[in-house]
Amino acid sequence: MKLLIVEDEPKTGQYLRQGLSEAGFAVELAQEGLSGEHLALTGDFDLLILDVMLPGRDGWQILANVRAAGLGVPVLFLTARDAVEDRVRGLEAGADDYLVKPFAFTELLARVRTLLRRGASTPQEHQLQLADLSLDLLRRRAERAGKRIELTAKEFALLELLLRRQGEVLPKSLIASQVWDMNFDSDTNVIEVAIRRLRAKVDEGFTAPLIHTVRGMGYVLEARA
Ligand code: CA
Repeated sequence: MKLLIVEDEPKTGQYLRQGLSEAGFAVELAQEGLSGEHLALTGDFDLLILDVMLPGRDGWQILANVRAAGLGVPVLFLTARDAVEDRVRGLEAGADDYLVKPFAFTELLARVRTLLRRGASTPQEHQLQLADLSLDLLRRRAERAGKRIELTAKEFALLELLLRRQGEVLPKSLIASQVWDMNFDSDTNVIEVAIRRLRAKVDEGFTAPLIHTVRGMGYVLEARA
């Protein structure tokens, strides 16, 4: 498995290269955006790890050009700015995952392995599916029964989480931390509201609802006979 790291901060880049090499990956490191982009487009990598703030080309531009070239290679973003807008923007731009600096190396390694496994396991690496509901992570499209569903970025992230963990009851606290990056506060109804809106888009008009409330516990996405 061949990985590309584009990171201009020398210590971080070398630390990542060393750690990932020791974990058994072939690793190339670019310390600036233009050469990083050139490598990303020509190097046939299994995974790209992109810093956001880079000289030459920033991470957003590299990602955009990689996707514009039709490359479906998984992309993990490293961002120093723990801002919701960054995450949303990254995911909308076609990043598969992101990690906020500073992070533990074990966390990075776990994300890398998950992304590579996802990439290798199925030919439709960017598709999540349940019954007639599908989510295309690369094209950022949701469909049910062949009909396009328009989702906001938050709704997309919420549906993606539900699909990835389908069949599992997800507590509101987990949804809050994964989708909103906030600690769950029982006074807020932001999750109920988002679920209600998502339901209206995903389930309304269908005889078999997929989003279910498990009272006192959370929400689960599953097809029930
Ligand atoms: Ca940087």
